[in-house]
This record gives sequence, structure tokens and C-alpha cells, in this order.
Amino acid sequence: MDDQNACHSESKSALSVNSGIEQPVSVDPKAAQRFIGKRKTILSPSEYIDGILTGNRTILSRAITLIESHRHEHAEIGQEIISGCLPHSGKAIRIGITGVPGVGKSSFIEVLGGRLTQEGKKLAVLAIDPSSERSKGSILGDKTRMETLSSDPHAFIRPSPAAGSLGGVARKTRETMILCEAAGFDVIFIETVGVGQSETAVHSMVDFFLLLMLAGAGDELQGIKRGIMEMADTIAITKADGDNVRASELACMEYRSALRLFPPAESGWSPQVISVSARENRGVETLLEIVTDFFNQSRANGFLEKQRKEQSRHWMYTTIQEQLLDGFYRDPQLTHLIREIEKKVMEGQMSSFQGATRLIGEYRKKQEHGH
Ligand code: GDP
Repeated sequence: MDDQNACHSESKSALSVNSGIEQPVSVDPKAAQRFIGKRKTILSPSEYIDGILTGNRTILSRAITLIESHRHEHAEIGQEIISGCLPHSGKAIRIGITGVPGVGKSSFIEVLGGRLTQEGKKLAVLAIDPSSERSKGSILGDKTRMETLSSDPHAFIRPSPAAGSLGGVARKTRETMILCEAAGFDVIFIETVGVGQSETAVHSMVDFFLLLMLAGAGDELQGIKRGIMEMADTIAITKADGDNVRASELACMEYRSALRLFPPAESGWSPQVISVSARENRGVETLLEIVTDFFNQSRANGFLEKQRKEQSRHWMYTTIQEQLLDGFYRDPQLTHLIREIEKKVMEGQMSSFQGATRLIGEYRKKQEHGH
């Protein structure tokens, strides 16, 4: 996909703001994209790095656009920028937030984020939209999201990278997080939709994982995969206001007893269950206390450091897989052969193993000859 399209689908992606709502110029990815489109205006890696380290939002946005670019030369500069930023990253609190569409993610992020920025914290909100894999709109929504935070000078909102494999989209978000940390953001939220694999990707790049759930939606405990509940450091029952208060309390009790059945987490942390309301601004302080306790505990027992190291290792291997597969499937000369061999395998003229071995052999040959 060319960068024009990347830009187009990005504008439809998660956390984007519809036309009519003014965005600060410094965070307008389209403007940065246009600017970068003119090749001569690309800065040197050290200029990007210096700009990021001094907290320049325009330069940060433009560097993120380079990371997200599908153009090889952009991606290369992007990697140099990441290397330069890496020693300055790691100081932020990284929080993952997930939940099904409509659970109240953006409303809660508005309230929680606003509370943090009022306190003077600098907050970056990033997203991983799994639907971007198919580039058909986004699950996180095209609707206006987080209007107040969008115009908050202490907040930086960046939509999900546009189309690509989930692994690729997630990697770019993780790299964006590194740049944001180097730019001095204190807190990073990474939002995703609780419908598939993307929670696992988010979980593998954050310190604290918050699962938002609805009360009174019937068989609550069956609606969500056990694996996702097991990842949660805190479950927050949303919309605990009006007629829904009682149902939220019941849901809290149910989840608490369900969580007791899980084996103890490696972190030594006992997951908490709370009820929150973005509408009535309830539960925010409790959540912040929980987050503080979590970080105090996991810093003290070494879990935070251990988990981050594990995550770096995980992303190295994930990136190897992503790049090998990408190189293989993107090779235009192989595409034809892949189809041919696939046909033979389907018709029983070749075994699956033989087909795979032949294709990998061809790919290796081409690599060796430098094609
Ligand atoms: P998302 O899709 O998970 O980001 O959910 P939204 O934040 O867009 O919220 C979905 C719907 O739930 C919207 O109509 C909101 O107005 C409503 N909603 C969000 N938070 C609350 C809340 O705290 N209380 C109530 N009663 N409604 C809420």
C-alpha cells in the first residue's frame, strides 16, 4: 500500500477525530505525512532524535509517520530514530486498556486521562485496531472519540497504524510508545478492542492491563475468553450509574469469585475488580490507587523489570517472524510460483511438505543471489 492510502485509512482509524473538530496542528498526522511526502524535507535521524528529546510534538508525529510507512527508506530512518530514542525510553507507566465495542473505553479514557493531565502528567494514547488488518474501517470506530483529550495540550492521541498484519501494526505501536517515552510522556495508554488476538499483543507491551466489562449483559462470565480475564490486572465494570449500579455491584462480586479460581499470577499481584462510571466520574480515584499499588509492588519485587525484559525478547522474535514471512510473501517473483505449487498440493500432485520445501528453497536461492 502506498503512503497516500496509508494516510487515508489512518484518518478512518481508531481514535481519529471527525472533520469539524479542530486538532492541534502539532498532532495532525496528515500534515506530517504531506510534509514527509516531499523527500527533501525529511530530516536527518539525529534531527528527529533531538526534536523528540526536546518534546517537539511535530517532529514526534513525523517520526511516527516514518515508522508507520511502508516505504523501505522511511522505515530505515525510523529504525535509526528508535535506536536513538531507546536509551531515553522506559520511564513511563504503560497501561493497556481493552473491552468490547461499546463498553465505554473512549469515555473512560477521557475521564481517566483528563484526571492525569490535570495533575500535570503528560499522557499519550495509542491504539491497536485489529480490524486495520483488513483495512475495512475500524472496530474502534469512525465516530468522534475523546473530544476533550484531543484538545488537551498535555495529551497526545495517535490512532492505530493503518493496514498491515496484526503483528506489524502492534510492533509499530510499540515503537511509537518508545518514541513517546523519549519525548517525555509520563503515562502511555494503549487501547484495543476485546474481540481477538490484539489483547495479547497489547498485553505483551504494557505493565498493567485493564479489562473493561459491562454488567448485566446476561452470562457475563461466559462472554469473555478466560485467557483475557487471566491477563487482567484489574477488571473495571463500566457504566456503574443510574439503574445500573446494583447490577454493577453484583457483577463485581461474580468476577471477584471467578478470579479467585485462577492460579496466582507470576507477578504476585492479586487482580482487583472495581466498578466505574465515566458519566459520574466514579471509580477513577480507586483505579489510580490500584495502579499506584501495582507499580509499587512490582517495582519492589523486581517483576516490572523482569517483565519488560521478557517483552523486549518477545518482540525480537515476533519481529523475526513478521519480517521473514513478509519477505517471503511480498516477493513478487515468488507469488506466481506459490500459486502454482499451491494448486499442485491441492490436487494431490505434490505433498504439502514437498510444496513448502520447494518454495522455501526457491526463496533461499534468491536471497543468496541477492535478488
Ligand atoms: P467504546 O466503544 O468502548 O469506546 O465505548 P464509548 O466510550 O464510545 O461508549 C459507548 C456508549 O456507552 C456511548 O453511548 C456512551 O455514551 C455510553 N457510556 C460510556 N460511558 C458511560 C457511563 O459511564 N455511563 C453510562 N450510563 N453510559 C456510558
